[in-house]
Order: sequence, then C-alpha cells, then structure tokens
Amino acid sequence: AKNSGRHTVCFFDPAMQAALLAHVRLEADLHLALANQQWQLYYQPQVNHHGTITGVEVLLRWQHPERGLVSPGEFIPLLESTGLINDVGEWVLEDACKQLVRWSEHPRLCELTISVNISPLQFRDDHFLRRVNDVFERTRAPLHRLKLEVTESLFLEARDDARDKMLALKAQGVRFSLDDFGTGYSSLAYLAQLPLDQLKIDQSFVQQVLESEANAAIVESTIVLAESLSLEVIAEGVETEAQQSWLLDHDCQAYQGYLFGRPVEAKAFEAMMLA
Ligand code: C2E
Ligand code: CA
Ligand code: CA
Ligand code: CA
Repeated sequence: AKNSGRHTVCFFDPAMQAALLAHVRLEADLHLALANQQWQLYYQPQVNHHGTITGVEVLLRWQHPERGLVSPGEFIPLLESTGLINDVGEWVLEDACKQLVRWSEHPRLCELTISVNISPLQFRDDHFLRRVNDVFERTRAPLHRLKLEVTESLFLEARDDARDKMLALKAQGVRFSLDDFGTGYSSLAYLAQLPLDQLKIDQSFVQQVLESEANAAIVESTIVLAESLSLEVIAEGVETEAQQSWLLDHDCQAYQGYLFGRPVEAKAFEAMMLA
C-alpha cells in the first residue's frame, strides 16, 4: 500500500497505544512532580584552559517516586508542550540563584558562575521578564555570576523581542551563552544582532573532532568566529584528553564534559571543590 512507508502512523497499533498511555501517565506525573517538588539540580563543572573550575552548568533531574532518576531528554519536551516549563524553569532559576547566594559567602566557591538552561518557550513567554525579575528580587543573587543558556531557535521568530529581553537582563549583569551552537539556525548576521557573551560548541562536533575533518573544521572556525566577535567560547561534551589537547591547540578557552566531571548533586560538587 501507498502509506506503508516508515513514516506512517497507525493509531490502532497496540504498541503505539501503550506508548500513548505511557505519555499521558508521564504528563499526570509531571503535575504531581511540580506539587511535590520532585526536582533536583545537578551541577557539572566548566573549566578554563588551565583546568581550573570557573563555573557550573545546572542540569535538571526528576526524582520519580517509582522510576527513579528520569533524564531531561524525556520530560523537557513534555514540560514544553504542556506549558509547565514556565513554572519548572522558574523553580530551576530560583534554586540556581539561591545556590549563587550560598556560594558567595564561601572563599573557594564565591567566584563560580552558574549557567542555567532556558527553554525557547520559556524565554518567549510574555511573563518571562517579570518572573525572572521576581526571582532576582526574592533571592538577591549576584547577577554578574549568572549565565543563561539559550538556543539558536531564538533567531527564528520575534528576534527583536528576544533581543529586548536579553538587553534588559544584561543591563543587570546577566550574561548569555548560545547553546548547541552549529546545530540550529544561526547565521553570521543573526549572531551580531543578539547581545551574546559566549558560544557553546555542541558536543556532537566536539566528540568527532579527531575522527571527522568536517567536524574539526566546524569547531576550528567556531573558535575563530567567537574570537573575532569578541565572544567567549566553550566546548561541551569533552570526554577524552586527546579531544582536550586538540581544543587547547586550537585556542579554545573553556571546556565542559565527562573528562572534567559528570553532573553531580551540589554536595558532591562542593566536596570535590573543597578536596
Ligand atoms: P544541554 O544543555 O546541551 O546539556 C548538556 C547535556 O550533555 C547534559 O545532558 C549533560 O549531562 C550531557 N553531557 C555533559 N558532558 C557530557 C559528555 O562529556 N559526554 C556526553 N555524552 N554527555 C555529556 P542532560 O543533563 O541529560 O540534559 C539534556 C538536555 O536537557 C540539556 O542539553 C538541555 O537541553 C535540557 N535541560 C537540562 N536541564 C534543563 C533545564 O533546567 N531547563 C531546560 N529548559 N532544559 C534543560
Ligand atoms: Ca546547556
Ligand atoms: Ca548544549
Ligand atoms: Ca545538547
């Protein structure tokens, strides 16, 4: 039959029905998770070219009562499609800001920056600025140590609105990093239009830097591009020393990846910093 290609969706397929049910179930669980605070932040170190830890990226984890730790790849899309991302995203930001305040009193931790992922849906929401400013007022966090990670999809629509919001936050000291750089829709012209501070080279390029000449060329030109636009550059997903030394040879400034540390709970991160 004409419609038997692999993209065909059959609604009466029992496997599909089971998947749908699981999906509905997960969504109901997400509402409970919000009410019962089943969220937790993990912290992954970011290092400079000396290997010194200068900051962390916070990564959201869902401690599901039966399923254990659920990874964000599974639930972020659901949070986005249900609009719950606005509430969860606010919680993440507030918790990260409280951590900045706590660390600001500690001699070994007071200079760390914290990077927080912002979903494009959350960023585009009409109440985004108000919610963020409320968090800033409640926590009194040192905003010059906060970075927001946004993605290239912000370039797609309402670019002026995105720029205005970024400028309003930058005026308070907040910095912006462009996450997953190279996988989306950016053009050089867009890059100059948004007030960014950092480019984050996507891990898919970083992990193939020694195997693929094309990926090496992408990483190398991203580093040069960042330099010429006076942006910081950080490579994510660095797993091996060979990758690190290739990046060092090509003047990459900052690094993040399992080689330097996996995402861990605050306590474990602090213990590592103070060891
Ligand atoms: P991302 O922002 O690109 O985060 C990097 C992901 O790569 C994280 O996965 C991290 O654990 C993983 N990673 C870090 N170093 C390495 C490495 O060396 N090798 C490999 N293979 N992976 C590495 P995670 O924590 O599962 O998060 C997945 C995605 O979920 C994130 O991708 C981000 O897009 C989203 N996410 C996580 N937390 C939040 C959040 O609080 N808010 C929003 N909106 N999205 C979030
Ligand atoms: Ca990120
Ligand atoms: Ca990323
Ligand atoms: Ca990614």
